[in-house]
Amino acid sequence: MVDEIVKEPFKLRRGGEMRSTNKKKGQDQMKVCIETFIPEMKDKIIIDKTINNNAGRRFRPDYLLEDLNLIFEYNGMQHYINPFKLRGDDIKKEFYANHTDKNGIDKKYDTIRWPYFFQLTKPIAKFVFRDLMKHFSEENSQINKNGYYSDEKYYRAIGEIYNDPFDLNRKKKATEEKHVLSPGFHGTREVPATFCDKGIERFIKDLSWKCDAKDRGCPCNAKVPESIKHQIKRSLDLYCGDLKKNEEKWLIIPEHNEQYKKFFKFVLDEKYTNLFYGRDPSTYKT
Ligand SMILES: [Zn+2]
Repeated sequence: MVDEIVKEPFKLRRGGEMRSTNKKKGQDQMKVCIETFIPEMKDKIIIDKTINNNAGRRFRPDYLLEDLNLIFEYNGMQHYINPFKLRGDDIKKEFYANHTDKNGIDKKYDTIRWPYFFQLTKPIAKFVFRDLMKHFSEENSQINKNGYYSDEKYYRAIGEIYNDPFDLNRKKKATEEKHVLSPGFHGTREVPATFCDKGIERFIKDLSWKCDAKDRGCPCNAKVPESIKHQIKRSLDLYCGDLKKNEEKWLIIPEHNEQYKKFFKFVLDEKYTNLFYGRDPSTYKT
C-alpha cells in the first residue's frame, strides 16, 4: 500500500535493520546486539517470560538480564499510537523499579527502552551500552561502572545485524558505520502521523533525553546523541519527498501538533546523515 502513494517503491531489503524476536524466522537482532556488547550475558538472556513476582499480576519483559538487574524493552509502534499501551508502559516501569520477588525480597530492575525507529549507529551504541550503563550503575551495583562499549564490539555487532547495502551481490555484511540503516522511517506505515499526543511526547523525549545530573548527583553525562534527530528528520524529509502528491504530507507527519512542529524546526546538519536510507544504493555518495 505504501508503494502506491510514493513515486518509487522502497528498496529496503530484509535483514538490514534492528528487529526484536521473530520466533517464526528464528531471528533476534536485539538479542544478538545485547550479547555482543555484554558477552557475559550470552545464553543467559530471558526472553519474553513472565517474571517471578508477588504482585499478583503478570509482567513479561522482552529481554531480562537477571544477573544485571536489567531489562531491555523493544518498543514497536503500539507504544506510540495506543494511549493505553503507553500508560501500561509507565505502570510496568514503575513495577520493575520497585520489584520484589516471590518471597518479598527486593529485586529491582532498571529498564532500557529501544524504540523501533532507533538503529545501531556508533553514537547510539555508545549511549546505550556505555553512558546509560554508567548512569544505572550509580544505583545498580550489578552493572559495570565503565559500561560495556568498545569499537571492536561495535563493528562485530553491525556485521551481525546489517548488510552492506553497496554490495550488489547482497552477500557482504556491514563493515562501516555508513552501511547501517539510518534511524527513522523507511517505507513503513508506522510513521509519526499515526502517533497519539502522548506518543509524540514520548517520541520527542526519545530524541532529546539527558540525565539530569544536578537532581541526581549522577556523573554519567548520558544524553541521547544529537545525531539521531538529524537522521530521523532526514528519513522523514526523504519520505515526504517520495510522495506522489506533495499535499499528502499528512500521511507521514502530524502537521497540526505544535510540540512536534517546534521540535523539528532545527536546521538539518548533513555531517550526521551519511548512513543508508533504504533507497537504491547507487544514488549514494560512498
Ligand atoms: Zn546519569
